[in-house]
Amino acid sequence: MAKETHQFQTEVKQLLDLMIHSLYSHKDVFLRELISNASDALDRLRFEALTKPELLTEGSLLQIRLELDAEAKTLTIHDNGIGMSRKELIDNIGTIAKSGSAELVKKMKKTTSGDAEIGELIGQFGVGFYSSFMVSEKVVLVTRRAGKKSAIRWESGGKGDYTIDRAERDSIGTTITLHLLPADEEQAVEDFADEHVVTTIVHRYSDFIAYPIVLKTKDEDKTLNSMKPIWERPASEVTDDEYAEFYKHISHDWRAPLERILQRAEGTIEYRALLFIPSEAPTDLYYVGAEAGLRLYVKRVSIMERCEELLPRYLRFVRGVVDSSDLPLNVSREMLQHDRQIRQIRKGLLKKILDALKKMKSDDEEKYLKFWAPFGRSLKEGVSEDSENRDKVTELLMFSSSADSGKLTSLADYVSRMKEGQDKIYYLTGDSQDVVESSPHLEAFREKGVEVLYLTDAVDELLVDVLTEYDGKKLQSAGKGALDLGTEEEKKEQKNELDEKGKAFETLLARTQEALSERVKEVRLSTRLTTSPACLVSGEGDVSPRVEKWLRQQQGDMPIQQRILELNPSHEIVTRLKAKLDVQESSETVLEYAELLYGYALLAEGSDIADPADFARRFAALMERGLNAPD
Ligand code: ADP
Ligand code: MG
Repeated sequence: MAKETHQFQTEVKQLLDLMIHSLYSHKDVFLRELISNASDALDRLRFEALTKPELLTEGSLLQIRLELDAEAKTLTIHDNGIGMSRKELIDNIGTIAKSGSAELVKKMKKTTSGDAEIGELIGQFGVGFYSSFMVSEKVVLVTRRAGKKSAIRWESGGKGDYTIDRAERDSIGTTITLHLLPADEEQAVEDFADEHVVTTIVHRYSDFIAYPIVLKTKDEDKTLNSMKPIWERPASEVTDDEYAEFYKHISHDWRAPLERILQRAEGTIEYRALLFIPSEAPTDLYYVGAEAGLRLYVKRVSIMERCEELLPRYLRFVRGVVDSSDLPLNVSREMLQHDRQIRQIRKGLLKKILDALKKMKSDDEEKYLKFWAPFGRSLKEGVSEDSENRDKVTELLMFSSSADSGKLTSLADYVSRMKEGQDKIYYLTGDSQDVVESSPHLEAFREKGVEVLYLTDAVDELLVDVLTEYDGKKLQSAGKGALDLGTEEEKKEQKNELDEKGKAFETLLARTQEALSERVKEVRLSTRLTTSPACLVSGEGDVSPRVEKWLRQQQGDMPIQQRILELNPSHEIVTRLKAKLDVQESSETVLEYAELLYGYALLAEGSDIADPADFARRFAALMERGLNAPD
C-alpha cells in the first residue's frame, strides 16, 4: 500500500473549519473525547476477547497512556484496545456517521452570528475525535486492528484532506499524537503539553474511566484516575458534575442529563444500576433501528455496550449502566434473551424508572415537562406495549387539551375538571393541534364547556385503541358516534328536539343520502355543530380518518370507509336547502350542495378530498352563481 491522500467528506471539512476557528472556551474537552474513545476501544477488545481469547496477549494490561513532550509540543494518547482496520479508519474518521454531527453542520450553515454561538453549538453536539483539531495543528494516528498484522498511519492538518499510509506498530491498539497549537490566553488555549494541566483535565473529566490512565513523566509512571466505578461510590460523595461526565462518556452526548436514577438491588438478584434520562432526544429516537440499550457490566467488567434486553422498547431513551454480580462473564446475546436473571433485572429497572418518573411528575412539574417534550411519544408506546404496567404508564401521560391550549394536562387532571353529568373523557385525534382545534367536531363541546383532549401524535391512534377507559370513564372520540352532552334533562330535551326536527328535515336528509350513497352510510341531523353547516362522523367501530389515510397510503386503492354526514339544522345553508325542497321536492340544487357539503366537511376536519378537481369545479360554479346573484 502506497501513501494515499483522501479528501474529508464535505460536512467534515465544514466541521473542522468551524472547530479550528471557533472561540469555544472549553477546548480542554478534546482530551475527554480521546480518552473516552480509548476506553471504548478497550471495552470492545475485552468484549471480542470473550470469544477470541487469543486477542489478549498475556501479561499486557489494558490501559491508556499519556505522553507529553514540552519541547516538541506534542501530547500523545496510547491505548492497547481494539484498533481500527483501514476501512474502519476511513469510515469512522473522515466521514460523519453520527446524526448529531450532521445536524450540527446543518445548524452551523444557518448560523450567521459569531463564534460564540458556534462554540455553543459545538458544546451541544460534541464532535468526538475532531475536537482534537481545536488544539492541534496536526494530528497523527497510528492504529493496528486486533487480529491484524499490519498497522496504518493517518495524518491530517485538519485543512480538508488526510493521508493514509502503512506503518509499524508492535502490538494492537491506537496511538494519537497531537502537534499542539501554541498556548494562547486570549483563545483560551492552555498548555496541553504541561503535566499539571493534563492531570487537572483528567481529574475533572475522566476519573471514573475503568482503565488506568497513566501519565509518563521523567521519573515515574503516574496513574491519574481513581478508576472507581462511579456506581459503586456512595451517591453523597459523587458530584453532579462527575455524574454528568460519566453520562457523557457512556452516551456520547455532550449535554448534561436531565435526571439520574440510582438503584442498588439486593436480595434474590443483586445488581447496581446508574441510569440517566437525557435532556434531549437523539435524532433517530423515533426511527426503526434507533440505538437502544444499557451498558452491561458483570463484576465491574464491561460486557456489552448496548444490552437491549434490559429495557422495554418504549424506554429506549434511557441511558446508563447495570452491573450485576450474578451473571456469568461470558454471557452471550442468545443467552440474554432467555436469561431469567436478566428478566428479573429488567423488571426491577422498569419499576424503578416508572416510579422515578411518577415522582418527578408530582414533585417537579417543570422538569417533568422538559422530560415529556422529547420522550413523551416514546412513553405513550408503553401503553400498548406493556400491558402489565399499563396503569402506571397511563398515569404518566400528558396531553394538550381544549381547557388551555398552551398547557398539557394529565388524565387525572382532566377527570377532576369533568362537568356534572359528563361520564366520558373526550378526545379528538388529528395531524396537528391547529387542525384539531379548528375542527367542527368541537363546536358543541366548546359551547357546553366540555373539555376535549387533542391527540396529535401518530402513536395516539394506537393509544386510544388500547386505552379505552381511565378511572372507570370511557375514552370517547369527539368525532365518533352520536353525541350527547349535558345533564340527563338536557339530553332528553335535546333528543326530543332532534326527533321533531328530524321529521321536518326528512326529505333533505333522504335526498342528500341519495346523492352521496356511495360515500356516506347515513345522513342525519347533528347535535355537535353550532357554526358549521356539516361535518363527518365515524361509526363507533370505525378507524379514524387519519388512520384511514395512512392505510390508503400503504395499501393503495382501499375502499372509502363510509362515514356519517351530520347536518346542522340551525345553519342557514341547511335550513334554506330544506325550504327549497319544501317548495319543490325535485330540486336539483340539493344534489349539488350535497357534494359541496361533503367536500366541505372533509376539508374542515383536515382530511383529503378524493377528487379535488371535481370539488374545485363545483366550487367555481358556485362562485359564479354567487356573482350572478344581485349584491
Ligand atoms: P464517537 O466516539 O461518538 O463514535 P468519535 O468522533 O469520538 O465519535 O469517534 C469516531 C469513531 O472512531 C469511534 O466510534 C470509533 O469507532 C473510532 N475510534 C476513535 N478513536 C478510537 C480508538 N482510540 N480506537 C479505536 N477506534 C477509535
Ligand atoms: Mg468518542
